[in-house]
Amino acid sequence: MELKETAASEAKTNFIYQEIDKDLLENKNESKILTRFPPEPNGYLHIGHAKAICLNFGIAKHYNAACNLRFDDTNPVKEDVEYVDSIKEDVRWLGFNWQGDDKYASDYFDQLYEWAVKLIKAGKAYVDELTAEEIAAQKGTPTEAGVESPYRNRTEEENLNLFERMKNGEFKDGEKILRAKIDMGAPNMHMRDPIMYRIIHKSHHRTGDKWCIYPMYDFTHGQSDFIEGITHSICTLEFEVHRPLYDWYLDQILEGEPTPKVRTRQIEFARLKLNYTIMSKRKLLELVQKGIVSGWDDPRMPTISGLRRRGYTPESIRMFAEKVGIAKRDNVIDVALLEYCIREDLNKKSVRVNVVLNPVKLIIINYPEDKTEMMETINNPEDESMGTRMLPFSRELYIERDDFTENPPKNFFRLAPDREVRLKSAYIIKCESFIKDSEGNITEIHCIYDEQTRSGMPQSDRKVKGTLHWVSARHCIDAEVRLYDRLFMDEEPDGHKDIDFKEFLNSDSLKILTGCKMEPSLADVKPLDKFQFQRLGYFCVDTDSMPNKPVFNKTVELKDSWSKMMKK
Ligand code: ATP
Ligand code: MG
Repeated sequence: MELKETAASEAKTNFIYQEIDKDLLENKNESKILTRFPPEPNGYLHIGHAKAICLNFGIAKHYNAACNLRFDDTNPVKEDVEYVDSIKEDVRWLGFNWQGDDKYASDYFDQLYEWAVKLIKAGKAYVDELTAEEIAAQKGTPTEAGVESPYRNRTEEENLNLFERMKNGEFKDGEKILRAKIDMGAPNMHMRDPIMYRIIHKSHHRTGDKWCIYPMYDFTHGQSDFIEGITHSICTLEFEVHRPLYDWYLDQILEGEPTPKVRTRQIEFARLKLNYTIMSKRKLLELVQKGIVSGWDDPRMPTISGLRRRGYTPESIRMFAEKVGIAKRDNVIDVALLEYCIREDLNKKSVRVNVVLNPVKLIIINYPEDKTEMMETINNPEDESMGTRMLPFSRELYIERDDFTENPPKNFFRLAPDREVRLKSAYIIKCESFIKDSEGNITEIHCIYDEQTRSGMPQSDRKVKGTLHWVSARHCIDAEVRLYDRLFMDEEPDGHKDIDFKEFLNSDSLKILTGCKMEPSLADVKPLDKFQFQRLGYFCVDTDSMPNKPVFNKTVELKDSWSKMMKK
């Protein structure tokens, strides 16, 4: 079966599409569709967010509708414009456009305040003075009712007065809070007088010092959807238990109002979990703050910016989101699937180039010293339209140190004394001798070449078992190449009770190779240019790269076990 077909048909038949189709059939919301992607700007987006982005924008695209980008920015302590900017960049880079301007929950603070006052007036909210610890202690357990606060039955006047004074900055952080008056015995813990507003004396990235009280996420999210006319609010499973609260808030707000044209419907799906990967923004932030990684865009990070710097393409991430599909139950996805997707994409797109990571000198002793020949080579055997280019060949070359051995074991088909190999796009050579230094390291390999084996010559088709990549010593460019291994050694680094996730960090996740030798066609590379290094893998020019000091990141291996599994 064709892989792509499966994914596409899956996208349209997953249960969210089915629910939306039903709503359309019933002519709900006047048959309108509007979705949103609602990040909190408290960190950079990661591959899990990419799934939510592809889903929300994908639904909009499928129904020829729109998707909003709304920042749920209710906590000035953790939020920052740096995050807002990075999120916008990442969503665009993934290939999506939101409807109109970017939106902010903080734009609705006035409206939310008014609605809080409405709840107070309706006897549905009260100002509490218990501390956070006391509230937690009185919350009860799922099987045991909580205890009502002694401040629960204040008069409306008292509540209005105190709430206004909270807003006016008369109290310190934590001194008072506004709570919904619902039911301390509710089986759903979220309905036990949840907090609506707290005091935070901190400037907000958009509203500055206008407010010192900030609405809780739960008192904001549903209303923000409602204000924007979002028809389908797609969110992750942990919000299923919040749904009755969102409905309750909306019911109170709409009390005495005409029936609205759009009533948001929340549908939950399973969040993406990847093995060997941390997806919590708080923990990713910790890696950044402690300098364990070089930043949010460290190529080992599962962030969109990290993946981009590593060499991932938007197409590969969208393909991954499709293949993962949408489920109602949590499951862990193998990171090999993500690697499969980028390999598929780069295989089609990338030029094959010659780079020697760990060079050893090879001298062709019967080749003239000053001669240079230009050898034609295919850019991408998967796609002839990508053409060919010319590689300079000369007497002194570099090959990979591993491609030569003094005492070849069985099944070693590369270069060894008296053995022949083909130099890709050039001649067949035979090893005559080699030189070692005092420590026994091989410093030079001496070969002879057979002039008749070059392309266009009588023996160009002569077969030998090994083909090696190479660069001309006189023409090549030095480069730095960064190799990566997974950041964590454990399949579920944050899944162990009592063991900190950092205990599972891989101390060898980054290896820097300097003095790598690249063919001269790579002289003008730009950050994020992508290549296949022959026989070595896919590589991407790093953002640290400079014209005279190129730096490459290894994106992914050439080989993979996943494609075999997928094709079975
Ligand atoms: P936080 O821990 O800060 O709440 P979050 O991962 O929930 O982080 P948000 O900024 O609130 O981050 O997420 C924005 C949207 O992305 C939400 O709708 C959320 O459900 C979705 N999302 C977050 N993580 C994942 C994930 N791993 N898989 C799928 N969707 C996700
Ligand atoms: Mg969240």
